[in-house]
Amino acid sequence: MQNLLHNLNPEQLAAVTLPAQSALILAGAGSGKTRVLTTRIAWLIQTGQVSPQGVLAVTFTNKAAKELLTRLSAMLPINTRGMWIGTFHGLCNRLLRAHHRDAGLPQTFQILDSGDQLSFIKRLLKANNIDDEKFPPKTLMYFINSAKDQGLRAAQVDAYDEFNRKLVGLYDLYDAQCQREGVVDFAELLLRTYELLSRNQPLREHYQARFKHILVDEFQDTNDLQYKWLKLMAGAGSSRGAAVFAVGDDDQSIYAFRGANVGNMSAFEREFEVQNLIKLEQNYRSHGHILDSANILIANNSKRLGKNLRTDAGHGEPVRVMEASSDIQEANWIIEEAKNLIREGLPRSEIAILYRSNAQSRVIEHALFSANIPYRVYGGQRFFERAEIKHAIAYLQLMDNLHNDSAFLRVVNFPTRGIGARSLEQLQDAAKQHACSLYAAVPYVGGKAGSSLAAFIKLIEGARFETQYLPLPEMVQIVIELSTLKTHYQTEKEGADRIENLDQLVNAASLFVSEEGFGKDAPALTGPASANTVLLENGDGNVIIDADAALPTVMSPLSAFLSHASLEAGDNQAQAGQDAMQLMTVHSAKGLEFDAVFITGLEEGLFPHENSAQEESGVEEERRLMYVAITRARQRLYLSFSQTRMLHGQTRYNMRSRFLEELPEESLKWLSPKIQPQWFGNKKSAWDDAPAVGANRIAQNFNQVADANAWRIGQGVAHPKFGEGVIVNIEGSGTNARAHINFGKFGMKLLDLSIAKLEKI
Ligand code: ATP
Ligand code: MG
Repeated sequence: MQNLLHNLNPEQLAAVTLPAQSALILAGAGSGKTRVLTTRIAWLIQTGQVSPQGVLAVTFTNKAAKELLTRLSAMLPINTRGMWIGTFHGLCNRLLRAHHRDAGLPQTFQILDSGDQLSFIKRLLKANNIDDEKFPPKTLMYFINSAKDQGLRAAQVDAYDEFNRKLVGLYDLYDAQCQREGVVDFAELLLRTYELLSRNQPLREHYQARFKHILVDEFQDTNDLQYKWLKLMAGAGSSRGAAVFAVGDDDQSIYAFRGANVGNMSAFEREFEVQNLIKLEQNYRSHGHILDSANILIANNSKRLGKNLRTDAGHGEPVRVMEASSDIQEANWIIEEAKNLIREGLPRSEIAILYRSNAQSRVIEHALFSANIPYRVYGGQRFFERAEIKHAIAYLQLMDNLHNDSAFLRVVNFPTRGIGARSLEQLQDAAKQHACSLYAAVPYVGGKAGSSLAAFIKLIEGARFETQYLPLPEMVQIVIELSTLKTHYQTEKEGADRIENLDQLVNAASLFVSEEGFGKDAPALTGPASANTVLLENGDGNVIIDADAALPTVMSPLSAFLSHASLEAGDNQAQAGQDAMQLMTVHSAKGLEFDAVFITGLEEGLFPHENSAQEESGVEEERRLMYVAITRARQRLYLSFSQTRMLHGQTRYNMRSRFLEELPEESLKWLSPKIQPQWFGNKKSAWDDAPAVGANRIAQNFNQVADANAWRIGQGVAHPKFGEGVIVNIEGSGTNARAHINFGKFGMKLLDLSIAKLEKI
């Protein structure tokens, strides 16, 4: 038996071998949290305290989940395929597929990614004659998602004024339309599962009895609904509840803008009656100068639980800082430095280039491309979001679920087949009148429009019939042909790339089939089902079958692949396996580590980002993001900024980031002479001297202040009903200005500034 425990320090060992009670491991970056979590799973299984089926582990990305499975297989001689290790979304999808009937969903329900969701909302507004100037689709999307993230259905949202009542009404319409089409958005995956388990006692008790150990990585970034979900799944508070093992770092909480709530850490301690709170303080990742920089930077934040990190690794190289005259020069400098590193023997995959916003990658990519250095971009446009892929996927979605109106509209006339706007209007009217899907409404449309539409339906149904017994990759191949997508792109100027991507989709389907075990010899999706096939009576006298047993029968390879397309980043597989440099946003670098890291674009407005720069809590979140970025590096860290930068078609002149001023001078090595801008006399006080310069400049650039002396982001306000709050965002201007205001225990509200009775405080 492999000794799993010999590579741990005493605190890590204590954490790994804790008794089966809820525990919180609170520790800084690179202190081995993820290692502890993985080792604990292996140890629990190895010592027979739990079977692989009894473990539920939640990670932040699919990539992290895969990594965890790989590490587990290396530690234990078990088949990890089918273990319940994944993201919240992935795990919920799995539960909902298996129990779709109890959840009130069609077997082939489909997932809307955020792009799909936005077009869905636009269509909904149009169909209901709603003015999208008054109710911008993005505002409605934000409203719906944040309500769902808090676990609230439309009926439960407190609508306190006319505008909000309208939003609530639209939320309700939206849900009804999703239900009709058999589609769910990301937040819905969680909310649906939560509701299902809340009301279905036998099902809940079944999973509570099954998952004896629940482990959560990156716990600081859970939102309210995820936390409630965990509570339910774990049966928190009951004596038979699961042991929840949460690891996290409050200094790395970087998703508040999406509703993540660090407060969950203290709630967890209380509500799960945590007996064991362990801190890890030894950092195993970074050299001294890098770690000192991270520690000193984050010390500028006020709201911290407080912990420290030390390393035995020695100082190592100083952190190199470079001021470039332009973003192009910055990119060229990065490439020269990277070439040196590669010459020194570093694999390209150990070099990461991080940036705050995706838009920054273009210039860097261009330089890498010109220098002939292989690279891989994460989290840019997802493979599955490319237009041609979306089109092919829409055909497949329709074959799987004819009532998906989004998919229907995407391809009904693409490639063109003479179905114009007028015909579609007729069809939409018919669908409205009969309260049915567009597909079901086709027979109600007569004339030429009717026959063109009928021909389209025949195409879809024909494709469905023809491919029903074929393996998934062949199915995809045939659909690409039958839809005439390929012939269409052959006539386009830039069609070659698109055709190549369509071919990639067939490869992606093959890879999916072999990885997920839909092949002939491979066990079903979730491993040996017989071991834990459980039959239970639910309230209606129906039989409940555990998801592991139910899934292979309810989830076709096509449905599974379509979920995968919505939930996975779908990095282009052509680049996989090649030794390539890694480009990504700081957000997507969370949890990862590299020998060398470049953090680029360290400029005011960019990093810290313009949207956060005006309120202290925003700056603190940006600082945590910077802390995450710095702590990705093992041996080498490079920081760069530029005097000018082209972004979104405009040249910007930014000041260098305040974060550079916050780093310890003795750990830095300036490669360019450090010029003191006039407003930086000395470190922080310089900011105090000239806040107006920075603030005004940012405001002018980004139009963040609605009116010179009216409202601004960061302004404290008092409301007669919600009490005191802080403005966190302003949209629109003049009489159309609205603000997102954080009212603490009343949550986030969107108020019309010209109407709401607000007072400045
Ligand atoms: P983050 O907060 O960035 O997610 P983390 O706390 O999860 O970091 P890990 O990724 O688990 O940290 O560990 C950081 C690095 O340190 C990894 O390369 C890991 O293998 C290594 N490491 C952790 N513990 C030890 C140890 N006891 N001995 C040697 N190396 C270790
Ligand atoms: Mg980690």
